[in-house]
Amino acid sequence: MFNLVLFGPPGSGKGTQSENIIATYKLQHISTGDLLRSEVTNRTTLGLEAKKFMDQGMLVPDEVVIGMISSRIDESGDARGFVFDGFPRTEAQALALDKLLEFKGTSINLVLSLEVEEQQLIKRLINRGASSGRSDDNEEVVTKRIKEYHAKTKPVAGYYEHQGKLVTVNGEKSVEDTFKLLSAHIGQYIS
Ligand code: ADP
Repeated sequence: MFNLVLFGPPGSGKGTQSENIIATYKLQHISTGDLLRSEVTNRTTLGLEAKKFMDQGMLVPDEVVIGMISSRIDESGDARGFVFDGFPRTEAQALALDKLLEFKGTSINLVLSLEVEEQQLIKRLINRGASSGRSDDNEEVVTKRIKEYHAKTKPVAGYYEHQGKLVTVNGEKSVEDTFKLLSAHIGQYIS
């Protein structure tokens, strides 16, 4: 299997690039943001609980997200590999993911970190809010999400750097050019 973590702040393009990557390399996309939004739409107990955190730009508690990821991996059948998008977002989640994959006899191969300057992130997220209707893409909540990222998620990069798996990529270019940069790294593992 080939397992990739697409890492980066909110608005760095993880969702868009994940779509390109899964289509090209035939991998399964696991986005905790999408999974959580689907729970919210279906008004499940998990969704109603998660919504309180999401609307405030805060991370959903680790145990909720880890449980959800564990079931998603179990449902995946014999995948060629996974692209993790928006997960892990805390060191506890990174540790839990290593354990879950080890149980499946596999591991994370590569972590690609998309780097985008902060003013650019805020601009992108507010623009997206205008068209997507996502209630957490407004200036107040966006600022909080970026704060949460610096406080809790950024340290996860160190966790993977320590394992020798972290590669940073400039995420400020066009969608196509950024995809080329990411592909150059992924192509060293699979075709
Ligand atoms: P973005 O990366 O643009 O912030 P996401 O769709 O990945 O958007 O996440 C939206 C919200 O869902 C986050 O602000 C957070 O509340 C919640 N969320 C998503 N993934 C996680 C996670 N791995 N751990 C905790 N909360 C999460």
